[in-house]
Amino acid sequence: MFPAPTDLSRAQQRATVVEIDLDAFRHNLRTLKSLVGPVAVMAVVKADAYGHGAVPCAQAAIEVGVDYLGVGIIQEGIELRENGITSPILVLGGVFPNEVGDLIHHNLSTSLSTSAQACAIASEAERAGKTISIHIEVDTGMSRLGVQPEGFGDLLENVSDYKNLKIEGIFTHLASADEKDPEPTRRQLSLFDRTLEKLQAGKLSEPLNVAGPLFIHSANTAGLLRFPESQYNLVRPGISLFGSLPSPVLKPILDRQVNAKNLEPLRPVMRWKTRIIQVQTLRKGTAVSYGGHHVIDRDSRIATLPLGYADGLSRRLSNNLEVLIQGKRVRQVGTICMDMCLVDVTEISNAKAGEEAVIFGHQGDSVITVEELAVRANTIPYEILCAVGKRVPRIYL
Ligand SMILES: *Cc1c(COP(=O)(O)O)cnc(C)c1O
Repeated sequence: MFPAPTDLSRAQQRATVVEIDLDAFRHNLRTLKSLVGPVAVMAVVKADAYGHGAVPCAQAAIEVGVDYLGVGIIQEGIELRENGITSPILVLGGVFPNEVGDLIHHNLSTSLSTSAQACAIASEAERAGKTISIHIEVDTGMSRLGVQPEGFGDLLENVSDYKNLKIEGIFTHLASADEKDPEPTRRQLSLFDRTLEKLQAGKLSEPLNVAGPLFIHSANTAGLLRFPESQYNLVRPGISLFGSLPSPVLKPILDRQVNAKNLEPLRPVMRWKTRIIQVQTLRKGTAVSYGGHHVIDRDSRIATLPLGYADGLSRRLSNNLEVLIQGKRVRQVGTICMDMCLVDVTEISNAKAGEEAVIFGHQGDSVITVEELAVRANTIPYEILCAVGKRVPRIYL
């Protein structure tokens, strides 16, 4: 997944790249740490750190100081281990029985939701003579993974019986912490609290199989910013580490907290740029790109950019996108192709091949945000960031 240095330098010669500002990443993590209470932090670096590169981001997070890393799937945990990362890593999405060997071999922790999973992990761990750390997930309303609150007591007893399973955490996931209405989140948190009461002595026939701290957690970015009670003793920020927010609801909340503590705002970590490959002067009435759906209504200068939907620039953004050239916004025109797209540079009379164009991020004093693109594409910033394709080199500043 990470090319050898010689390949990397050739890949980096591509005109279309994303720049990753690891200083901004470190700043964001430090800022979040000053905003939360005295709790542990799990930096969520799933999906290749939301497209920013899991290994460099995990390393930057470790430099600043985190207690845990969170990944979505076991393969992402293995990638971190194979790149020398020794911090605790939680596989948030859980594992299949055929992945338990890797879990043990790479000393990863997993979320756990069922007795069947517990049995599969424990028996393989016993064979290997190892202990596996698990975090029990409680489904309080996400309806995705986890044990239902009614079944929590039984699962807990069941897991406690396996001496090769170490219960290191109990957690839930918030479904709506970034939605306007806070009530669904309050209901989830109160259900989680009631579930945790079953941990109290007396409800269990045997003591919990816990060595070291028991992490109780629920907060993603929206949770930790908006519902302080969701922080428990560990928080799991993801999107905010990359300088974006889950939804506009969080913007005033974050601004208020940042100002109250005299902190600098979060900074975007990724900047997507390319260079014009050709500029043509085309007559009024000319159709451009596939399907000829866009017909220019004046004599125009049309610039070709070497990036397209194969790079993660959604085709649904066709004719609904602006890019920055010379610090000015220009319109994307015509259907976005697999490897290219077109922009109208008529207003920039000296625009020429080789010149920088920015899809999102800063150019001079101008900026196009990931949030703006998300609105245009009718999606969320997460999807814009994760979509940036594998063939777009990441350049670390
Ligand atoms: C993705 C994820 C997070 C991080 O969420 P953000 O909204 O990006 O902060 C936290 N916990 C779990 C279980 C996740 O899947």
